[in-house]
Amino acid sequence: MLALNDPTLLREAALVGTRWIDADPATGIAVKNPATGEVIGHVPKLGAAETREAIEAAEAARHGWAARTAKERSQILRRWFELMMEHQDDLGAILTAEQGKPLAEAKGEIAYGASFIEWFAEEARRAYGDVTPGHAPDKRIITIKQPVGVVAAITPWNFPNAMITRKAGPAFAAGCSMVLKPASQTPFSAIALAVLAERAGIPEGLFSVLTGSAGDIGGEMTSSPIVKKLTFTGSTEIGAMLYAQCAPTIKKLGLELGGNAPFIVFDDADLDAAVDGAVIAKFRNNGQTCVCANRIYVQSGVYDAFAEKLAAKVATLPTGNGFDEGIVFGPLIDQAAVEKVREHVNDATSKGAEITLGGKVHALGGTFFEPTILTGVTSDMAVATEETFGPVAPLFKFETEAEVVAAANDTEFGLASYFYSRDHARVWRVSEALDYGMVGVNTGLISTAEAPFGGVKMSGLGREGSRHGLDDFMELKYICMGGI
Ligand code: ADP
Repeated sequence: MLALNDPTLLREAALVGTRWIDADPATGIAVKNPATGEVIGHVPKLGAAETREAIEAAEAARHGWAARTAKERSQILRRWFELMMEHQDDLGAILTAEQGKPLAEAKGEIAYGASFIEWFAEEARRAYGDVTPGHAPDKRIITIKQPVGVVAAITPWNFPNAMITRKAGPAFAAGCSMVLKPASQTPFSAIALAVLAERAGIPEGLFSVLTGSAGDIGGEMTSSPIVKKLTFTGSTEIGAMLYAQCAPTIKKLGLELGGNAPFIVFDDADLDAAVDGAVIAKFRNNGQTCVCANRIYVQSGVYDAFAEKLAAKVATLPTGNGFDEGIVFGPLIDQAAVEKVREHVNDATSKGAEITLGGKVHALGGTFFEPTILTGVTSDMAVATEETFGPVAPLFKFETEAEVVAAANDTEFGLASYFYSRDHARVWRVSEALDYGMVGVNTGLISTAEAPFGGVKMSGLGREGSRHGLDDFMELKYICMGGI
């Protein structure tokens, strides 16, 4: 059993509107620790009826919430942020137990997740409108921002805390209510957030956390005429399906979908900095983030040196149970993830790539996989077009800037991209030429509450975080003041 300072944070229940529904171990969903296979606990398997109940409660609660002053909403969000930070150790432990990432990284995610609540607590008071000169002498144009209403949210397992707060923060700041379905692999982090939201003073019914059948819950969320916006983080495949499901009721959509991030190292880069950046961009969360570098392009003059330095660095980073001291690589989320990684490695080697490091299931067994570096990778290999979502760094060699920009953009995705260069003009040129929502220049870490996170092309719609993140949860209303 997980030892927590506050054991009430690990609650085997779901919050449906105004009531908690306890899990029945016989019929509920067993949540397992991916490092050990041990059952951490159970959550209820809910469906359409409970989703409807939660949506109705959200509809009832939203009016009073929106009617409060922005400052009151801000203060409650601030309290929620503080509670998350006070319980950072416990929230981190719950996260490591169900997701696998090393404890230090999990606690880092809690601080990162909490930062969205803090940021949007501040932004709540800045939902400014406009006054525009009128188009006739007796008219004035006023634009105000109002909350969209009931929001449905569906989140993935790779960031069980932060993917929720990045949506709930702006939703509540704007004056919306939210019905959330977290990933079934990692529901306890979401439920702990609901426990703390209650303590912070988020009103009854405003926030629901539903665990259970993705199809049933998602079906009800997307077909309900009460729900005005769907915000989803997950695969492009499911995102496209949900997009279609939302069409008949014309919902607003926020979609954070898959990526296929290029990471480019030019000849003029600071090579050691590029290696450090690649380790973060590629191997954070064991390669299981949608902004993880998926294709590493290295200019021919520094290719061998970069490969050597990267392999030397990664070889020193230990793999193991995320609760053990100093671990950098935890397990992959499940067996299917291991299979995908293995397939990508096998496909690449069968077409001529060489394994410089790792390449196989880790001696620890289970879902542990060795951090892997492949050299001699070419565009006909699966790693070039598909998101690996695992600890595999494929190194492609290139000659010219034009060639690598074309290769980097040759994908249906457009989320994150990275490059290292010390040439000022090139930095501008390449930043503008990359067809991506986000570009990291001489850095492998770009996500932060202050910046707009989001993608173009098949990577999604909308932005999360930053001052723009609040707008995604608000409608503009134009008021024409006549008779002046
Ligand atoms: P991942 O590869 O990260 O698991 P998914 O897109 O499969 O990506 O899952 C992301 C979220 O979408 C999870 O919460 C999952 O339960 C949910 N989900 C999966 N299938 C559906 C569906 N048919 N309807 C609604 N939500 C779904």
